[in-house]
Amino acid sequence: MAEEYEPVIALEMHAQLKTASKMFCACSASYGGPPNSQVCPICLGMPGTLPVLNRRAVEFAIRLVLATGGTVHPRSIFARKNYFYPDLPKGYQISQYESPLATGGMIAIDTENGPKNIGLIRIHLEEDAGKSMHQENGESTLVDFNRCGVPLIEIVSKPDLRSPAEGHNFLLKLKQLVEYLDICTGNMEEGSLRCDANISIRPKGAGKFGTRCELKNMNSFRGVERALNYEIMRQSKVLAAGGAVEQQTLLWDEKSNISLPMRSKEESHDYRYFPEPDLMYLDVTSEWIEQIRNEMPELPSQRRRRFIEQYGLPAYDAEVLTSGRPLADYFESAAAVSADPKLTSNWIMTELMREIKETDIARIRVTPESLGELLLMIKSGEISGKIAKDVFGEMLLSGKQPRAIVTEGGLTQISDESLIAQTIERIISANPDNVKKYLSGKEGVFGFFVGQVMKETGGKANPALVNKLLRAAFERLGKK
Ligand SMILES: [Zn+2]
Repeated sequence: MAEEYEPVIALEMHAQLKTASKMFCACSASYGGPPNSQVCPICLGMPGTLPVLNRRAVEFAIRLVLATGGTVHPRSIFARKNYFYPDLPKGYQISQYESPLATGGMIAIDTENGPKNIGLIRIHLEEDAGKSMHQENGESTLVDFNRCGVPLIEIVSKPDLRSPAEGHNFLLKLKQLVEYLDICTGNMEEGSLRCDANISIRPKGAGKFGTRCELKNMNSFRGVERALNYEIMRQSKVLAAGGAVEQQTLLWDEKSNISLPMRSKEESHDYRYFPEPDLMYLDVTSEWIEQIRNEMPELPSQRRRRFIEQYGLPAYDAEVLTSGRPLADYFESAAAVSADPKLTSNWIMTELMREIKETDIARIRVTPESLGELLLMIKSGEISGKIAKDVFGEMLLSGKQPRAIVTEGGLTQISDESLIAQTIERIISANPDNVKKYLSGKEGVFGFFVGQVMKETGGKANPALVNKLLRAAFERLGKK
């Protein structure tokens, strides 16, 4: 049933800017402080106070506009968005409305059919509201104003997305961009990146858009994809049953995986926007834009190219390693110690990536420097690659340095030829049947002998040496 319809999706994202102070006052904008410890008369909206614009917030917003190819308008205007809510002490939010900071631009996403450009309608500046904390007993609500006045940018996409997977990929690309630009942590769970969606469906091939619904409250990347899928199914069922989709705002419930309509009172928007009389026009000169352009951090595509050129990495490795800025930084720090980019890349793409599927890279207990140390120990022959994996596992658990683990565990590789040769002699005389098989031409049995030597030495024998000495021993026994 659902295949007959094509979804049309536009996303509206809010990104908290990583400035030290808030948008219009000097309070700290950092996340996680004790409730109401980062407030002042300005962000609490006391009468008689005046806002002063944070220059850094404007620069951060312009970075994203430049990275997405949009137009920064020479003059934009702040506007009051009026509504009542307990976490909004002023009774209005300072935002931008008719004259936003920037319009246009696009973000390229990956689809099954190759890259696709998703257009942006606008990027504007605004301030965040506080946070209402509804108590579990349902009897009271507490308000934390720390978030009040934290700088935000709102990014509105064109309705260019055609599937939940495209929506998910778009969000990931935006997260990647804001991380690289160093303007937002991109953490959806902490609310520093938020996403609402406008979604409608139409019969495949139709030109006209269907009636759209607004979907809010999606708090994770996977949640966005699930919520969009759910909404497409819901609208498809309505149409298939001969009904009409009603325009409404729905709240996604992450726990029960369903969306429910918001009470109609809350969705009737009349924000009575008007220009903010307490702030000047925001004038951005072309000199200022050029200055910001010159100070732009490296973008994902630039870093990908550099990884190929500077480190001689295959395109695939470069793509994976630059997928997120923290991962790319991790690689560069580890490679600086190991002095072997490809080996470092291999380890990160297998051993480390397995771990960061489960946890955030910031919580990994193995520092890039200690991974580099571990790789140096493999390269010098001090430990085998196999032992190194065990050591890495221990590093993940304890956060200990690789050398300490190797020394304490007596894991240093055995490269003593006579010791290995003795072990080989012992194994050969203990397995006459397998020796016969091997000498009669069964190559596969060679692996059995390697395995036995490794077993006897607790995995510590140098594998290259084991191979060489085993071949020599069999040659003496008459193997051609
Ligand atoms: Zn303040």
